[in-house]
Amino acid sequence: MAEDARKRIALTGRVFPKPTATRVLTVANQKGGVGKTTTTVNVAAALAQAGLTVLVIDIDPQGNASTALGIDHHAEVPSIYDVLVDGTPMADVVQECPDIPGLWCAPATIDLAGAEIELVSLVARETRLQRAITAYLQHTATSDVPAPDYVLVDCPPSLGLLTVNAFVAAQEVFIPIQCEYYALEGLSQLLKNIELIRNHLNPTLHVSTILLTMYDGRTRLSAQVAEEVRNHFPEQVLRNTVPRSVRISEAPSHGQTVMTYDPNSSGALSYLGAAAELADRGVAPAGA
Ligand code: ADP
Ligand code: MG
Repeated sequence: MAEDARKRIALTGRVFPKPTATRVLTVANQKGGVGKTTTTVNVAAALAQAGLTVLVIDIDPQGNASTALGIDHHAEVPSIYDVLVDGTPMADVVQECPDIPGLWCAPATIDLAGAEIELVSLVARETRLQRAITAYLQHTATSDVPAPDYVLVDCPPSLGLLTVNAFVAAQEVFIPIQCEYYALEGLSQLLKNIELIRNHLNPTLHVSTILLTMYDGRTRLSAQVAEEVRNHFPEQVLRNTVPRSVRISEAPSHGQTVMTYDPNSSGALSYLGAAAELADRGVAPAGA
C-alpha cells in the first residue's frame, strides 16, 4: 500500500517525454494468456494519459485489444484486415478511443482469422504492415491526424505471418512474461524467431523491453521466475512488475483499460510505472 502511495505521488499527472522519432513496438510472446493484450492496452493508455499520441494495432483475430479499448470491431467495421489484405490505408480504419484522447486503435475483426492464409499468396506478404505504418506516418505529416509517438502492435499467440508482419514493422520487441511455472518455456523459440527476422527481414529488430506480469510477491515461484528473467535480461526487464489483480481482469468487460476503470488500483499504478520507464528509456542516451 505504501508502495502504491509512493507511485501515485511520483507518477500521477506526469507528462512523459516524447521520443525523438516514433517508436514501433511489437508486444509478443508465443504463449497465449500471458498478458500481451492487457499489457498493450494498459501501457498504451498510460502513455496517452501522460500526453503522448499512441496507436494500438490489433492483429489478433480475437480482437481483445479492440474490445478493451472500447473500439467497435464488429464484422463490417473497416479494420486491420482491410489494411493487410486489401491495402486500405491505415488512416481509413483507425478510431480514437472514446475514453482516452490521443489513444488510437486500428481494430481487428473476425475476418482477420482468415488473413493468415490469405496473406500467403500475396506479394510482399511479410512487409504489408510495415508499409502501412510507414504510409500512415507520412500521412500524419501532411494532415490533421496527429503522428503517433508510440505504435504498439498486439500479436496473436503464434508465430505465423501476422506476427512476422509485426516483427518486420517494429524496431523493438516488448515481451510480457507471466511469473509462473513454464514462464520461460518457449522463450528460446521466440528469441530464435526474432533472430531469424533480424537476419533476413529487419536488421533493426531487438528485444528492448520485458515486463513481468501476474507477479505474486507472496510466492517463491514468482520471485524465482523474476530473478531468473532478470539474470538473463538485466537490461531489458522493467523495474515495475504487474501484480495479479482482479481490477485488471475486470476492466475489459467494461470496454475499458484499468487506467480509466480504476486508476488508483495497484494494477493501474504498476502499468503507469512501467509506461514511465518505457518512455524514459526512449529518450535516454544510448547505453544509459
Ligand atoms: P494474451 O494477450 O497474452 O493472450 P491477456 O492479456 O488476454 O493475454 O491475458 C489473459 C487473461 O489474464 C485475461 O483474462 C486477462 O484479463 C487476465 N490478466 C492479464 N493480466 C492480469 C493481471 N495482472 N491480473 C489478473 N488478470 C490478468
Ligand atoms: Mg491477446
